[in-house]
Amino acid sequence: MHVFKNTIKNDFKKKLMCVFAEEVEEASKLHKYIALGRVIREYISEAWLQSKKRCLENDKKQVYYFSMEFLTGKLLESNLINLGIKEECNEALNELGINLDELLEIEKEAGLGNGGLGRLAACFLDSMASIGVYGHGNGIRYRYGLFEQKIVNGYQVEIPDKWLKDEFVWVVKRRDKSVIVKFGGNVKLIEKNGRLKAIHENYEPIKAVPYDVPVVGYEGNVVNTLRLWSAEPVGNEFDFFAFRAGEYLKAVEYKYNVESISQVLYPDDSNHNGRVLRLKQQYFFVSAGIQSILRTFKKTDKEIYDLPDYVAIHVNDTHPSVAVAELMRILVDEYELGWEEAWKITTKTIAYTNHTIMAEALETWPVDMFRKLLPRVYMIVEEIDRRFKIELHDKYNEDWDKINSTLIIHDGNIRMANLAIVGSYSVNGVSKLHTEILKNRELKHFSEIFPKKFNNKTNGITHRRWLLQSNPLLADLITDTIGNKWITQPNRLKDLEQFVKDKAFKEEIKKVKQKNKEYLCNFINDKYNILVDQHSIFDVQAKRLHAYKRQLLNGLHILNLYNRIKENPNLDIVPRTFIFAAKASPGYHLAKQIIKFINSLKEKINNDKSIKDNIKIVFLENYNVTLAERLIPSANVSEQISTASKEASGTGNMKFMMNGGITLGTLDGANIEIKESVGSKNIITFGLTADQVMNYYRHGGYFSMDVYNNDQRLKKIITQLTNGFLDVPNEEFKDIFDHLITYNDEFFVLKDFDSYVEAQNKVDKLYKKQDKWSEMSIINIANSGKFSSDNTIKEYVDEIWRA
Ligand SMILES: *Cc1c(COP(=O)(O)O)cnc(C)c1O
Repeated sequence: MHVFKNTIKNDFKKKLMCVFAEEVEEASKLHKYIALGRVIREYISEAWLQSKKRCLENDKKQVYYFSMEFLTGKLLESNLINLGIKEECNEALNELGINLDELLEIEKEAGLGNGGLGRLAACFLDSMASIGVYGHGNGIRYRYGLFEQKIVNGYQVEIPDKWLKDEFVWVVKRRDKSVIVKFGGNVKLIEKNGRLKAIHENYEPIKAVPYDVPVVGYEGNVVNTLRLWSAEPVGNEFDFFAFRAGEYLKAVEYKYNVESISQVLYPDDSNHNGRVLRLKQQYFFVSAGIQSILRTFKKTDKEIYDLPDYVAIHVNDTHPSVAVAELMRILVDEYELGWEEAWKITTKTIAYTNHTIMAEALETWPVDMFRKLLPRVYMIVEEIDRRFKIELHDKYNEDWDKINSTLIIHDGNIRMANLAIVGSYSVNGVSKLHTEILKNRELKHFSEIFPKKFNNKTNGITHRRWLLQSNPLLADLITDTIGNKWITQPNRLKDLEQFVKDKAFKEEIKKVKQKNKEYLCNFINDKYNILVDQHSIFDVQAKRLHAYKRQLLNGLHILNLYNRIKENPNLDIVPRTFIFAAKASPGYHLAKQIIKFINSLKEKINNDKSIKDNIKIVFLENYNVTLAERLIPSANVSEQISTASKEASGTGNMKFMMNGGITLGTLDGANIEIKESVGSKNIITFGLTADQVMNYYRHGGYFSMDVYNNDQRLKKIITQLTNGFLDVPNEEFKDIFDHLITYNDEFFVLKDFDSYVEAQNKVDKLYKKQDKWSEMSIINIANSGKFSSDNTIKEYVDEIWRA
């Protein structure tokens, strides 16, 4: 779209005037941000309306991406870039004496997700709009997003994330598009016109109110919708009689209970649950989403039998998998279709992505709880289960392994992954390795029953946010070198390979990285008062804190390196800055101990003058999209060190490589595909393979105690954990000790230790050859286009959605 600088200037001034009755000179930064945001949203509106009209007229298939999480990050800058008016806007504000960067700072990011899964959903929305797919998000408008993390005395402290405190300018509330979602009550079956009809009575109705966020595609042509639902009471906000009787709390209790449904995002990455409320949340946004899809569909002149030709519902992990039963319920109860017909439509409409093989993340709901909360939906699940069971028994009559592992209702629990697999036409994993593990191990029986359903779609990231926006220096250098086609055709980044041996280009690449490191140094210095050596290796591990991601391995290696320097003050190493950023789930004790461990190590090492600044540790608080954007461009080394087989894909790994960071990683998730695309010389890998890990799990044979006893280095550092060496009570890290030794090191930290130390030594050696390192860096950037979510989405469109 095109908007003249003067238009922006006038619109902005007018908006400040109309909304706040203020002139530029007196307005606060917040007011300026809000005024600018509103002006930009109005620019978006025109294209948004046109997009919606085209959707209705063109008969195009619409994709609806159902996800509990959307980790969008800030939106002002990406909207300006995608509309193509960032320059004009910058100049317009400059002429008014306003710095755009300062306004970008003010925005609070919408943290409606925990980590990778939510960020993936956001990248997919960007790519769908940018390559012209009509694909919309469907989720929950949590009043509080993922908690804000502070580190106090080395410990994580959680603070509520008040992202809605100031106005969130990117949303339109559409009260007129509200729907009712029903909970509880009982179901009566009556006979009507020769068929059984279900009457749901005495339920509690909840109003689901949509808040629509426009998703602007690059160059602004397609604007899709992210629809976020909020729970409100139906009818009276409070009990007026109670209020009049002076029972004020009771009067608002009802409202409070209803609103709790969309109150908080559960900060549980892959374990722990808030049970009932979480199930309520899941059904709430799924039911609201499907009702609203069908309402729109009804307005066209199409037959319900043709639904799969016009609508694809994608279920992101098991959280929205109740969609299978909800769509069935509506088709059977409201459209009055026969079961077979409804089942045919449902299983051609819904597709499912599996995100993890971690047992604790495979959701199940106790039958009693589910039935009480969703009585009619439960009946549907029961019927799906009954029919599937018959099919199983017919086909595999004595194969109890197969039957028991694939049943939907088992042992008093509903297995949501099984419901999702049975009720959808496509089941995909998120990297080649992960999909192979699903097919050959975790979901082996299912893949034998439904071989055609299973497929792989390796995750991706939008290169527009993770390169064009977050690393402008590198983006400009790339455009100066190969032109700007890469912005819409990420595979073009490959053209950079021609410049691998180009001296001038290598110099430029080095300069850009150095500049980005300088920026980060300033940030760290301002915020934490830590002086970081700009020429040290920036070694970064930024991701959720989880035992399988093995921040602990990283920490133990640092302690070992420290010990080596103490023993040999002349040790010849390149100075290293180890940077961590990670939130731990509030109830995840071990993860929180690991945060404290890293921070204790930081105190010890950063304050030891004798090691002459050869090692520094930095722990950056509150890892979120905004911090990731600031941090990743500066990294030299990308730590992707999960226990092989555990990280389904990872997307952090892709962001780092795209910004010229070299992966130091295990052969896990998408690391394997990164290795395939850059070649084994341009990545540093170590550790057990997934097969080795899975064989140990299956057949035993690993004893962490033996590794410990045979390695003097490990003996020393594990002792240092508990002997007061770190400035904490001796018992402080007992759980870490027990995890590693007493409970036999579930994630093979000690087993992979030696191999990791070797790999880290290799990093040091390679970095000393600066020229070579720059070449590696260029090859990583050049091959990162493959991991753009534009490519991932094209595969989803061609092979799953057929949109
Ligand atoms: C990309 C991203 C993640 C996922 O990182 P992994 O290394 O793949 O676990 C998590 N959180 C944020 C804020 C991200 O941007």
